Amino acid sequence: MGGNGPLNVTQQRLLLLGPPGAGKGTQSVRLAEEYDVEHVTTGDALRANKEMETDHGTPREYMDAGELVPDPVVNEIVVEALAEADGFVLDGYPRNLSQAEFLDDMVNLDLAAFLSVPEAELVRRLTGRRVCPDCGATYHVEFAPPEAAGVCDGCGGELTQRNDDTEETVRERLRVYEENTAPVVQYYREVGNLVEVDGTGSPDEVFAGLREMVESNDAV
Ligand code: ADP
Ligand code: AMP
Repeated sequence: MGGNGPLNVTQQRLLLLGPPGAGKGTQSVRLAEEYDVEHVTTGDALRANKEMETDHGTPREYMDAGELVPDPVVNEIVVEALAEADGFVLDGYPRNLSQAEFLDDMVNLDLAAFLSVPEAELVRRLTGRRVCPDCGATYHVEFAPPEAAGVCDGCGGELTQRNDDTEETVRERLRVYEENTAPVVQYYREVGNLVEVDGTGSPDEVFAGLREMVESNDAV
C-alpha cells in the first residue's frame, strides 16, 4: 500500500486522548493521512447511526444530552472497525475505564497521546465548531474558518453546527469527561505509555508535536 508515511514505520496503532474540543478529530485526520492508517472515531460512527435501535435505545438519546452511549453499543463499533484495520488512529474511545479495559484485551497500542487544552478554550472551540455533513470536514468560525462563510472548502456542502455543540450541552460533556474519561487518561499515565502534547498551538504546531512523539516512540 502507498501512503505518505515513512517506509520504515509499519502500520501504527495510535490513540488520541483529550477532552471534547481538544482537537482529536482535527489531528486524527492528519495522522491517518500521514501514516496511512484508518481513522476510527466512535463519535462519527454513532452520528451516522443515531437512530439505530439497540437494546439500550437509540444513540441519539444519549448524544443529544451529552451523555455516554452505553458500552456494548460502542464496543461493538470498535471491534468491527479494528478488525478491518492494520493500523489506526483511535479518536473518542475509550471514554471510561471499562472501555479502556476492553480495548486492552483487544489490541496493543504503539502510542497513547493526550492533547491538553484548558477548559475555557475548549468551550470556545466547541461552540464555534462547524462541520460539513457531506464530507465530515471540521471548521471553526474564528480559528479555522472556511473561505466562504458557511460553505465547505472541500466539497461545497453547507456547514452545520452539531446538536451537542450548544453551550449547555458542552458544559455537560465536559462534566462527563471529568467524571468518566479523565480516569482513563490517568490509567494510561500509570501503565506508562502516555505522552502529553500541548494542544493549544495552531493545528500545524500541534501536529508537529504529535508527529515528533510518533517518530521518537519505541513501539511496545
Ligand atoms: P475534538 O475531536 O477533540 O472534539 P475537534 O478536532 O473537532 O475536537 O476541534 C474542535 C474545534 O476546535 C473545531 O472547530 C476545530 O476547528 C477547532 N480546533 C481544532 N484544533 C485547533 C487548534 N489547534 N487551535 C484552534 N482551534 C482548533
Ligand atoms: P465526539 O464526536 O467524540 O465528541 O462524541 C460525540 C458523542 O458521541 C459523545 O458525547 C457521546 O454521546 C457519544 N460517544 C462517542 N464516543 C463514545 C464512547 N467511546 N463511549 C460512549 N459514548 C460515545
